[in-house]
Order: sequence, then C-alpha cells, then structure tokens
Amino acid sequence: MNYMVGFISLNVYALIVCLLLMTIFFSKKRQRQVEDQSYAHFLVFNALSTFTGIILGVLVTPSLDTNQLALQIANKVYLTCLLCWSCILNYYTMYVSFLKKKKDHRKFLSIYKNIILIAIFILLILPVKVVSSNSGAQAEGLSLLFFYTFLGTGFLVDFISILTDFKNIRSKKYLPIYLLLVLGLFSVSIQLVFPSLNYLINPCTVLITLVMYFTIENPDIKIIEQLNIAKDQAEKANRAKSDFLSNMSHEIRTPLNAIVGFSESMLEENDLEQIKSDAKDIVMASNNLLEIVNGILDISKIEADKMEIVETEYDLLENLTGLTKLMIPRIGEKPIELRTKFAPDIPHILYGDGGKVKQIVSNILTNAVKYTEKGIIELEVNCVNDGNECRLVISVEDTGRGIQPEKIDSIFNKFERLEEDRNTTLEGTGLGLAITKRLVEMMGGKIVVQSKYGAGSKFTVYLKQEIRSVSSVPKKEVHYEKMTDISNKRVLVVDDNKINLKVASRMLQPFHLQIEECESGFECLEKIEQGISYDLILMDDMMPKMSGTETLHQLTSKPNFKTPVVALTANAIEGMKEKYLSEGFVDYLAKPIDKLELERVLYQHLSQEEETPREEIFEPLPEDLYDINKPLKDE
Ligand code: ADP
Repeated sequence: MNYMVGFISLNVYALIVCLLLMTIFFSKKRQRQVEDQSYAHFLVFNALSTFTGIILGVLVTPSLDTNQLALQIANKVYLTCLLCWSCILNYYTMYVSFLKKKKDHRKFLSIYKNIILIAIFILLILPVKVVSSNSGAQAEGLSLLFFYTFLGTGFLVDFISILTDFKNIRSKKYLPIYLLLVLGLFSVSIQLVFPSLNYLINPCTVLITLVMYFTIENPDIKIIEQLNIAKDQAEKANRAKSDFLSNMSHEIRTPLNAIVGFSESMLEENDLEQIKSDAKDIVMASNNLLEIVNGILDISKIEADKMEIVETEYDLLENLTGLTKLMIPRIGEKPIELRTKFAPDIPHILYGDGGKVKQIVSNILTNAVKYTEKGIIELEVNCVNDGNECRLVISVEDTGRGIQPEKIDSIFNKFERLEEDRNTTLEGTGLGLAITKRLVEMMGGKIVVQSKYGAGSKFTVYLKQEIRSVSSVPKKEVHYEKMTDISNKRVLVVDDNKINLKVASRMLQPFHLQIEECESGFECLEKIEQGISYDLILMDDMMPKMSGTETLHQLTSKPNFKTPVVALTANAIEGMKEKYLSEGFVDYLAKPIDKLELERVLYQHLSQEEETPREEIFEPLPEDLYDINKPLKDE
C-alpha cells in the first residue's frame, strides 16, 4: 500500500511537470510548423496519459473495491492516451529523419492517422482484465498484448528511421528517442520482474517530453535557429553588398584617376598635340566610367528583378549591321578583319526585345575586339524558322588571346576579369558577361563559350524570337532636318550645379546658339516673368527647394508659355523617360549628355518648319525584291 502511495505521488509530480511544460509552451507564440504541432499534441497526450494513469492508480486501490468494468474502462483510456503519445513520437522521429525531405509528407500523415485510429479501435475491442492487490495492480489480456506489440513496433520504426539518417546519428534531435529506448527497456524489464510496478511508465514519458523540449528540434530552439539562419543570410547579403561597393569604388577610381590626372596635366601643357592626346584619353576614361555606371545599373536592376523585357517589332539585321559599324573605330589600328555572315533566311522583322538582343551581341562583340590583337573577328547569325518561331543562333568568333579552360566558368561572374595584369591597359568592368548571361537567360535562351587559350574564342547565343514579317514594314523613326538653321536660337539651361552648366554650355557652343544659364527653378521663373522668351529650355530635375518638374508645372500654368522644356537629368533608370514625358517635358536627355542625342533634341525642337512630306521620286520596287531569300535579277 505504501508503495502505491509513493508511485501515485511520483505520477502526480510527473503531471505537475507536464502541466508546467504545457503552460510554458502554449504561452509563447508559435509558428505553424510540423515540429511545433507534433510537440503540442505530444504534450497534451502526455498530460492525459499521466492524469488517467493517476486515476487508474487510485481506482485500483483494494479498499475502494472498484468494479471490474470501471477498471477496464479506465485502463483502456489510459492505454489509448499512451498509445497516441507513442505514435506522435514515432511520427516525429520519422519526420525529422527522412519525411521532412519529402514533399508529400502530409499525405503520409493522413495515412498514419488512419493506422492510429485502427490501432485504437483494436485496443478498445480486445479484452483486458485488471487485477488489484495490496502491492499494486496488474492488467492482463489480449488488449495489453496488442498494446505492447504496437509499442515495440513503434520502437523498431524509430530505430530504422534513425538509421536512414545515419550521418546525423549523433544529432541532439534524436536524444528523446535514445532516451525512450533506454527508459522503455528499463521500465519493461522492471515490469517483467515486478508485474505490478507499472507506475513508472508515466514519469518516464514525462522525462522524455521534458528532454525533447530542450533538444535541437524543440520549438524554442527552432525559432532561435531560424533567427540565426535569417541573421546569417542578412550578414551574407550585407557582406556581398560591401564587396560590391568596394569593387565598385575600385572600378570607378581607375577611370576617375585617369580623368583627374590627364586634366591636370593638360592645364600645364602647351603642346596642342599633347593636349589633344590627353583629351582623347579623358574621353576614353569617361566612356569607361559611363560603361561601369550603366553596368552597375543593369546588374542591380537584374538582381532586384526590375529588368523588364520590352517586346516590339524590330529589324535584327539592321540592328546588327549598325552595331558592326560601331566596332570599326574600336578596332582602331589593330590588324583585324571584321567579318559578318548573315544567313539569307533570317526574317526581316522579328518580335521581341530587340534592344536587349543588341546589348547581348554588343557585349560579346566588344569583348572580341578588346581581347584580340590581330586576325579575324566574325559575327555569324543563323536561324531555324519553324512556323511563327525563329530560333536564332548568333556567334562571335575571334582569333584573340583565348581563355584558360579552368577559368571559362568564372568569366560570367560579376567583376571577374581574367589575367588582370594583362588586362590593365584594356578598359573593362568585369560586368559585361555577367549581364549578358542574365539577359540571355531572362529571354529564355542560353550562351555557350568555346575557347582555346592563345588561339581564340567563340561565344554562341541561342535565342527564340517571334517572326512578324519577312518583308519590310514602315519604321517609326524620329526625323530631324539637320539642314535647318538653328543658329541664334535662344536656349536656357537650368541646373543648380555650376560644372554641369559649364559642360552643357560647352556642348551647345558648336551650334552657335544664344545660351543663357540659370542656377535654380526660381531664377528660371523670374526670367520668364520678366518677359524674356526662349526657343528651348534644358531643365535639370533634381534641384534643391524647387525641382525641375515643379518649375515646369509653374511655367506651364502661365497663360502664354509655349517654350518646349527638355528634362536634363542623371536619373537614367528605366521608365524615367516616360515619367518625364508624362509630366509635360517634351523630351529627355540623360547625363552625361550624349553628343548625338543633344544634336537630335536641338534639331527636333528648334527647327520650326513642319516636316514636309517627301516627294516620291522613284517608282516603288516590285514586292518580291523585299523577299530576302530571292536574289536580285542582275546579280
Ligand atoms: P570585361 O569588362 O573585363 O571585359 P566581361 O564580363 O565582359 O568583363 O568579361 C570577363 C572576362 O572574360 C574578361 O576580363 C576577359 O578576361 C574574359 N573574356 C571575355 N571575352 C573574351 C574573349 N573574347 N577573349 C578572351 N577573353 C575574354
């Protein structure tokens, strides 16, 4: 009798521990994860089994003389709770060892739930007999046999599950299962020797539940682990950003150093030839700087998922021919023959992002020119046409320095430049191929490199585009009549930065205009209010106190204001042009100002004559001549 009081007290302590654990666990906010949910059920069934175990312990006291049916019911409820607790532990072990890696683990859970229900059903219908005595109570019967067999099978499943994850066999997450095996063996052996001492089971299960709370897979640790992962990721991203910034500042410093150095030496130089040569180097370094800034803009846009594919109709061959022409000055004095080979069946008009196709080819063609000293560079375009679809194969082959086989994969990494020592004299950022590869992938294509170190390289791009037409369509082009005289027109440049004003005025000088400058939107408004009229205003946007856009809004609200205002801004992100046009600017010029763009803007907005339709001088050519597949008759 004293034994029983002692064991019941032990179970009461176990129940108190279990309830405390529940209070701690459920008082915290949890994420809905399998581990959390299993642990919550695990706790509840542990509390229930301990509680029903205590009730059973009390009921079997001989002095109460409880009838057999009540004892049997209490026993079955107790065994059911214990069985559920053990099944949850089985599922938890299977989940952390192998199910977690499988996508359909939820499906498995529903099957497992059915198995548990069947087991409970069998447990409930099989007979059991509870015999009580002064030294304790003892249950016997098929129900109990089934219970122990099921539990034993569960142990075996746990054991096999852990073996499937053998490399993590020492992981803390399996500690509760090891403890279960040890304590299970311990309590079963005790019970075999002293059949009436079955009150040890619940304290053992509570101990396992407690240990589980403190192991690696317990919910608290899990949250901390997740926070650590998030922290690691944030730190990694931060490090990548710092590396990017330090790389960037290094890349920017190089051309900047050349610009500052040559400019200073020009100030002290009297020899005109030397000044011209320095100026040439400054232009080259500036273009390089611009390339870096554009590259950084492109790569950050791609990485932020902001790069968009803008699909329009375009003439691929016209684009590529223009591009090839641009390469000639880049080749300069080098003994290089630049060849093009365009297949005759390339559709005339394609539908897709022509600008990006051009950027891709431009990048690999520029590299071929950069890294080839002599020989041949060949741009070849072939295609396979299938219905509406055109599969383009664009390749650029050179007889340049080539790439070492082990370095081929790294050339597509950001800021990766091979043989820096040999590269020092060649401008470059190490961003070109990284951008090219991302652009090709964005368009659903691929890029392949073949190279022989010391002999040459071949870059091949595969892209799919839609065929729109094999004959020519009227192109929408902006025309301006360069013959119109625009000299003496009055142009006002508004910019808060003195250097920018100076640069703009210097670039406008060759057009013999009357140029006026002012340093703020207020000053510009004042001039207009004084009645001074201009033929064109070039307006910076980012100015303190009153932006260019605000100034424009105030200007256009004036009744007689008709002067066209062009946005002049360093804000060169995609979509900006459209934004400025929608604000009311008539055009957009990005800083640094491109000479040809400036010329276009001036002629387009300063020549007053309406564009007169051109008289047709020639008879239209027969339709079939536009068919690129058909040879001309007199050839
Ligand atoms: P970069 O601005 O340095 O040209 P890229 O990303 O375009 O950067 O190219 C990365 C590196 O790949 C280059 O620095 C160069 O070493 C190598 N590379 C690219 N194209 C060629 C080529 N046609 N021949 C030899 N090496 C090349």
